[in-house]
Amino acid sequence: MTKPDYELVGDNYANTSLVPKDRDLVYRCKLCGGTIPSLPARSIGCGCGNVAIDKDCWRLYIGDYGSFEVLRRI
Ligand SMILES: [Zn+2]
Repeated sequence: MTKPDYELVGDNYANTSLVPKDRDLVYRCKLCGGTIPSLPARSIGCGCGNVAIDKDCWRLYIGDYGSFEVLRRI
């Protein structure tokens, strides 16, 4: 079983307006290990609720910034 390869784009953001989003970017929660697309088709969140996106108002929610990182598919 092969895992998709990712490279780290950034972490330890100060606020959500600094977090990039793009088709090939995903957000990873280090608490539960869940990943969500940065441009989801619908509202989505990681398993533990630390990272979530509200599609209706395009708002990104991050509980613990130290447990959040942005990855790019390679
Ligand atoms: Zn989580």
